[in-house]
Amino acid sequence: MEKRVIIIGTGIGGVGLAALLAKDGAKPVVFERNNFVGGKAGSIEHKECLVEVGIHISPRGEKGPLAQLAKKTDADVKFMNKSPMFKLIYGENEGMIYQNMMNPVSLYNMFRTISPSIKALPGILRFMMLAYRIKTKEDAAKYYHIPAKSVIDKYTSDPDIHAFLNFCCVMMFCISTEEASAGDWLLAFNNWITSGGTAYPKGGFGAIPNTYMKVCEDAGGELHLNEEVNRIITEEGTVKGVETDKGFYPAEIVISNAGVVKTLDMTGDQHFPDSYVEKARNSIDSTGGATVIFALDAPLAKTPLNVYIPKRYDWAATVKGLEQGRIPDDIAVFMISPTVAEPSVAPEGLHLLLGAAGTVPADMLDKEMNRQVMDLIESRMEKLFPGLKEHTVWKERHGVDFMAAVGGRGRGEVIGMAQRYDQDADKRFSPRTPVKGLYIVGADTGSFGIGTELAAQSAMETHALILEDTAAVHHAASDT
Ligand SMILES: Cc1cc2nc3c(=O)[nH]c(=O)nc-3n(C[C@H](O)[C@H](O)[C@H](O)COP(=O)(O)OP(=O)(O)OC[C@H]3O[C@@H](n4cnc5c(N)ncnc54)[C@H](O)[C@@H]3O)c2cc1C
Repeated sequence: MEKRVIIIGTGIGGVGLAALLAKDGAKPVVFERNNFVGGKAGSIEHKECLVEVGIHISPRGEKGPLAQLAKKTDADVKFMNKSPMFKLIYGENEGMIYQNMMNPVSLYNMFRTISPSIKALPGILRFMMLAYRIKTKEDAAKYYHIPAKSVIDKYTSDPDIHAFLNFCCVMMFCISTEEASAGDWLLAFNNWITSGGTAYPKGGFGAIPNTYMKVCEDAGGELHLNEEVNRIITEEGTVKGVETDKGFYPAEIVISNAGVVKTLDMTGDQHFPDSYVEKARNSIDSTGGATVIFALDAPLAKTPLNVYIPKRYDWAATVKGLEQGRIPDDIAVFMISPTVAEPSVAPEGLHLLLGAAGTVPADMLDKEMNRQVMDLIESRMEKLFPGLKEHTVWKERHGVDFMAAVGGRGRGEVIGMAQRYDQDADKRFSPRTPVKGLYIVGADTGSFGIGTELAAQSAMETHALILEDTAAVHHAASDT
């Protein structure tokens, strides 16, 4: 590709696309406002450990789009599988889930842990058969534009199953089954639970975006860290380049990984049709994250993924309460122990255990609210892992304000634009924008998947559109 390409942002979507375009012969110039690569999926060196900005597990590992993108670009991305992979704690019960979540032992352990009423069993089995069938976008088609809960309601009213499935949805999309698109959720749920690939990346989560970026740099691309793009410049409906504090950089193709709304802010609403601006400005993001990172001198966690759900947890009521300034008595916690799968992210003898409130309002920027939520995560984790306090060598806390500062959208959303029933399928934003040569890549424009996989999916989908548009221009030129 001979066109000059600029990419704004080094989230999974931005660097994934940088690697794909570099393989086509482009030499993308990539700008990142932070001093590290990876956005929400980056890792930062802290006290000899590689500490994640967020807290991550790769839902499909080797079998998912992160690996698919790596394969397309010869990026050296590897995953560390562990089985049992997931410890599920529901109220007082707990059970181990194996790498193959659909095997009878995993299913039995899940059922025993959630212990729904026996009466609900036929409906639960019919729901599981439905979830097992929705493998492609075509299978999911008739479930778009309706909330996931409306589908679950048809199979069961069991409150424990509802609480469990609701939290699965929150864990995957950071919104409840009442808001989530049934089609997107069933598809992502099927792809996750049948993949048998859930894993942690070799070298830490940040190794994935760093490796994609390396592919781009090895092919002649450039990385400008600590250089924020202030403006995207357009003329007569066509992109011309970007402006940073250091000056103007011309380009025929500009790809923003900063999200749809921030891309509008950088370009100016006047360059887009009113309907596009209205849809973007009314769009809703996923909820946000607050995390506590423990470095321990003992391996207290046995599985990479651990999830605690209070019995019959009402996630929506918790989030609403937090929005109104109320701290709940208990909170669901999503916990990852990277060192169980990948010991090299910490010095020998040190074990990392990360816990995230699952989840909190993305605009909960108030310091005191964040302090109290992080205290709650800690006190819950102390109960779940006896001896946690005594074995803590150091700990770090990241509130919603930290996530907001990393992402740069002014809020601490975990995923990006929410995969809601009124923002799904044809209602999702395309990576193509009404401005010629300007594209948006990342979780906001991925067609389906969970978090990092949604962003990687977007990189591959955006790549296909850019190639299509470039080929169309060549054909038009050779026809004249
Ligand atoms: C606490 C937490 C837990 C999570 N858990 C999981 C999980 O377990 N599994 C999973 O798959 N996903 C998880 N996610 C979600 C996942 O991290 C995100 O959905 C995904 O990484 C988003 O990627 P993205 O490409 O959209 O870009 P982002 O990560 O949003 O990155 C955007 C980048 O653009 C940069 N940028 C913005 N504006 C500018 C500008 N003007 N100039 C230059 N640079 C700019 C930002 O600094 C940032 O680096 C989690 C996220 C968080 C926060």
